[in-house]
Amino acid sequence: MSAKILNGKEISAEMREELKQEIVELKAQGVTPGLGVLLVGDDPASRSYVTAKEKCCADLGMYSSEKKLPATASREEILAEVNAFNNDAAVHGILVQLPLPDASIEQEVIDTIKPEKDVDGFHPVSVGRMMLGQETFLPCTPHGVLHMLKRSGIQAEGAHVVVLGRSNIVGRPLSNMLSLKSDLGNATVTLCHTRTKNTADLTRQADIVIVAAGRPNTLTPDMVKDGAVVIDVGVNRVEDSSKKRGYRLAGDADYDGLLGKVSAITPVPGGVGPMTITMLMVNTVESARRSLRS
Ligand code: NAP
Repeated sequence: MSAKILNGKEISAEMREELKQEIVELKAQGVTPGLGVLLVGDDPASRSYVTAKEKCCADLGMYSSEKKLPATASREEILAEVNAFNNDAAVHGILVQLPLPDASIEQEVIDTIKPEKDVDGFHPVSVGRMMLGQETFLPCTPHGVLHMLKRSGIQAEGAHVVVLGRSNIVGRPLSNMLSLKSDLGNATVTLCHTRTKNTADLTRQADIVIVAAGRPNTLTPDMVKDGAVVIDVGVNRVEDSSKKRGYRLAGDADYDGLLGKVSAITPVPGGVGPMTITMLMVNTVESARRSLRS
């Protein structure tokens, strides 16, 4: 079987073209969608994520505003910057780049973001509304996965989807969104984690396997049935002396091994990753549109 490669760059590019048109229309009504980005510390990976998000805003004709604080910034200084974005009418969405140097204040920082500007979808109000199927901002990576399936013509509806991983940012919201009675949902979902006893028995029953475990080779060919769809959310640095930087990026699935067995699969990089940034833009534009209603 030759697998279809689900190209996140292409799907993202298509969605970003559509967004550009929406942004033009919003600007004509006097609103430029704006993203406020808070970066604390100088972790190189966080810096590069922030740069990519700001570049995407610029490419789409959106406004972005960056606040940078040193790793030593106090809780009060961080909350003050979040509140400054909360009160800035030009900012429709707030992104606090995680992880923060002090992980113990992350939840308080997220809780401080106004839910109507919570374009990451991590605020408890957003999570609750998502669970209830109410209008909210859906978390970007899981939402990106659902759009990727839909735009690739892969039906979640009626499918048995097995999700590996139960984090608050990927696995659990994804399994919730897939099980909702909604356009992108209506799937039958099984959620696995490290305490699951018979993971391979479960994944072998799945029409779609989504792996978000943060460990390379978590999903191997013997764990999927012929013709299954595999979505690999994982991004891992694997030592590789043939690369100048000493490592390569790999997902959580054995991509090469699965290619001959599945009907469709996402590569890493170039699969789910680009969708995450695109959904952040989608949410920010949606927030700008909602601001016209108030
Ligand atoms: P996380 O917080 O570390 O959670 C990993 C989850 O996987 C945990 O629930 C863990 O179970 C579970 N798990 C680990 N090994 C497993 C196995 N063998 N079988 C089943 N479940 C297993 O990670 P995360 O934040 O969800 O991220 C997951 C991966 O996605 C990472 O590689 C991350 O870099 C990547 N990611 C990518 C994007 C993107 O835009 N492409 C965005 C976010 C994350 P327990 O709860 O029992 O420990």
